[in-house]
Amino acid sequence: MVTEEIIKQLNSIVGPEHVTNAPDIIAANSQDALKQVFCADAIVFPRTAEEIAAILRLANERKFYVTARGGGVGYTGGAVPVRGGVVLATSRMNRILEINKADLVTVVEPAVKNYDLQQAVEAHGLFYPPDPSSWKDSFIGGNIALNAGGPRCVKYGNTKQFVLGLDFVTPTGEIIKAGTRTPKNATGYHLESLMIGSEGMLGVITRCILRLLPKPETRRTALAIFETAQDACNCVADFTSSGILPVALELLDRISINAIEDFEPSGLPRSAGALLIIEVDGLREAVAREAEIVREMCAKHHAIQFTLAADDAESEAIWEVRRKMSPAVARTGIIKLNHDVVVPRSRIPEMLEFLQALSARSGFLIPTFGHAGDGNLHTNVMLQTNDEETRKRGAATVREVFQKACELGGTISGEHGVGYAKAPFLDLALTGPTIELMKVIKRAMDPNGILNPGKVFETPLAAYEVGFVNSGQACC
Ligand SMILES: Cc1cc2nc3c(=O)[nH]c(=O)nc-3n(C[C@H](O)[C@H](O)[C@H](O)COP(=O)(O)OP(=O)(O)OC[C@H]3O[C@@H](n4cnc5c(N)ncnc54)[C@H](O)[C@@H]3O)c2cc1C
Repeated sequence: MVTEEIIKQLNSIVGPEHVTNAPDIIAANSQDALKQVFCADAIVFPRTAEEIAAILRLANERKFYVTARGGGVGYTGGAVPVRGGVVLATSRMNRILEINKADLVTVVEPAVKNYDLQQAVEAHGLFYPPDPSSWKDSFIGGNIALNAGGPRCVKYGNTKQFVLGLDFVTPTGEIIKAGTRTPKNATGYHLESLMIGSEGMLGVITRCILRLLPKPETRRTALAIFETAQDACNCVADFTSSGILPVALELLDRISINAIEDFEPSGLPRSAGALLIIEVDGLREAVAREAEIVREMCAKHHAIQFTLAADDAESEAIWEVRRKMSPAVARTGIIKLNHDVVVPRSRIPEMLEFLQALSARSGFLIPTFGHAGDGNLHTNVMLQTNDEETRKRGAATVREVFQKACELGGTISGEHGVGYAKAPFLDLALTGPTIELMKVIKRAMDPNGILNPGKVFETPLAAYEVGFVNSGQACC
């Protein structure tokens, strides 16, 4: 419980203008993209690592919960204060501190938005590849805490491939400086790696040293339409034989294509089984050759239409189709159970076949799209009514999706994390001793369990309540 006295102590740490329990600000900071509200008692907006350290020391002394928040657009409830307490909103820590072309390094505070960082480094002829589709809203700190991915991760890898060093504050209030600004480092444990994907449970990231690349000279984007989803999936799975690694290899199935056409018509053939968006980048001559290989691969797998963007504007028009995906799919039901399973690339055809059969058997539409090039599929189990029986069947269907992904050698999340939304399913993906070791690390770093409780190993809700049932608390 956050008492008036604790609020006064928080005021003295960050200044009273940066602590609030105003209902509208509490409500805005007590949910994420899952849209399920659990109310915080107060929101605090620190500016420095030292302030965060003081807040966490106070939390240990007075025993209140703290939940770190980035852009608040996570899909698994990670930033939601499910047990109340204080939300530590990082939004004031939003400076790009350095862009260094010679070292191919940038140093940023955690609340820099992914898109803003991309724009800033590109102005220097540099490139930061991880590009979650939420790039205009999500923060680098949140991207690191969830090991975010995005379309370009097929070629470049996800966030963890770009983190060289991190400053973070431990749950007990020590400021740690982990990693270096050099590309090589074999000095001690890689504590910065411990923070990647730690979902805000092991510390609060306050400064990020990130690796950059030279900006590729050019890119070409292609849109290929296939009569059957199997042809498209086979094309994805076969790409390893092509000798090239595209930057992006995105798949949209028939239901997704029709959802887009219903949402904002884009001229896509409604009868198509699936489409692929494929992008290659690099030096101009190499890209011209790679684009030809992409065309050949699509022809080999019976693409019925193939369009190669002539310039950046045409590329953007193709990506615009992909960006409509989330809002378009949301309209195909009243509740969207959106998950981001991942399977080995070679098992994608099997996974898609399974999803089609599951959709027919369960009666739920399951539009599927996503970063197929790295095996990461966004499966959306769509519910048409919000009654308990339907919700239970929906959760059981989601469990089957997760089970199949694990059975094929994949896992339950490729990029969104576990949060509380996937906590009921964790044991499908990880063994008992593995989960136990994670808990040992958590207890060692956070003996009082104050930082981001109710996540990953536990959840405030049964599986069939996640994404539907509100906490029942009003924030005001
Ligand atoms: C339309 C849409 C598209 C999306 N597309 C993608 C996609 O393509 N790829 C992808 O990976 N994800 C995607 N996401 C999911 C999500 O946006 C990302 O996972 C993103 O990384 C979340 O960042 P955030 O700043 O919003 O984090 P938040 O939601 O604020 O927080 C997420 C977790 O990080 C922790 N955290 C936040 N900041 C810190 C910090 N400074 N220190 C320690 N812990 C911290 C929180 O406690 C929480 O556990 C999408 C979401 C939406 C709504």
